Amino acid sequence: MTAATKRHLSIVHTLPCVIHLNCYGQKVNAEEAHHLEFVRGEHSDFATIPVCESCHDELHEMRRRAFYRAHKLDDVKLLAWTIELLEAA
Ligand SMILES: [Zn+2]
Ligand SMILES: [Zn+2]
Repeated sequence: MTAATKRHLSIVHTLPCVIHLNCYGQKVNAEEAHHLEFVRGEHSDFATIPVCESCHDELHEMRRRAFYRAHKLDDVKLLAWTIELLEAA
């Protein structure tokens, strides 16, 4: 892991859960980073979004497609929200 990656992830870990914030209007601490890219071994640590444990579980358990449909989400939207939070951090 490079220094830049480490720094980025440490900031992501301080952000609120993007899903809670944008879908439920609640500020909840995100302690985890979810990788948006699927391919094993090829995901960038920069394509990550801050999520709380329960949203993270839901994302993985419901499989992404169903979760996205239920919350009207897509990868670009989630990443854009994350960048917005990073700019404000
Ligand atoms: Zn959440
Ligand atoms: Zn994940």
